Amino acid sequence: MGGSNEALILVVEDDPAVRNLVATALEVNGYEHKEVSHATAALLELTSCPNISLVILDLGLPDRDGVEVIETLRGWSQTPVIVLSARQEDTDKIAALDAGADDYLTKPFSVNELLARVRVALRRTAQGSTGAQPCVSTYENGPLTIDYEAGIARIQGEEVHLTPMEYKLLVLLSRNTGKVLTHNYILKEVWGSALASDLPSLRVFMATLRKKLEAKAPGAALIQTHVGIGYRMVRAEDSL
Ligand code: CA
Repeated sequence: MGGSNEALILVVEDDPAVRNLVATALEVNGYEHKEVSHATAALLELTSCPNISLVILDLGLPDRDGVEVIETLRGWSQTPVIVLSARQEDTDKIAALDAGADDYLTKPFSVNELLARVRVALRRTAQGSTGAQPCVSTYENGPLTIDYEAGIARIQGEEVHLTPMEYKLLVLLSRNTGKVLTHNYILKEVWGSALASDLPSLRVFMATLRKKLEAKAPGAALIQTHVGIGYRMVRAEDSL
């Protein structure tokens, strides 16, 4: 790789060591990038630079919380955001994901891990799959195809018999491929409420959905579990 990536990535991080690590990794892999260390500067870049295709955002910034940056950005843009979190508590990551972040990395993270997440996020942008995509009537991801109009999911061409709830979950995940969806988000979208008491049933529905998909394509782990946080549909080529 190198030299051929046209993406412009904004790196928002006040810790110089982490910022340099990220910047070097991007540079070596041929990604154009800009660096800022404050939330205010980040929002200025994002408003004045509409060609930014991805934001790598530290949550603990000197002037404002990273979550506020996401909330503000989502007012006008669906540019993917990968959050960097130094804190161990899941609550920060969950708040960031609920605010509209696409993915997260917990420090310390490996450069390879970062680059893999960057590729996934940029693929989302390239496919224009950020946000709703009402015009797409067929979904394809490795062995999985979904005919949204007919309401049928297939694995390797064979219909998978899903309950209405399992199908709803699958559609939600597929329409947000590459993005980590929090439990809260899924409950709100599928159940219409975000009660913590619904969480056990979400887990059960997800387990049976996954079992049905994988029964027809063993080893095709298209749905990732993020313990304590939520779920993500990965592209087949990213799940290897
Ligand atoms: Ca920081």
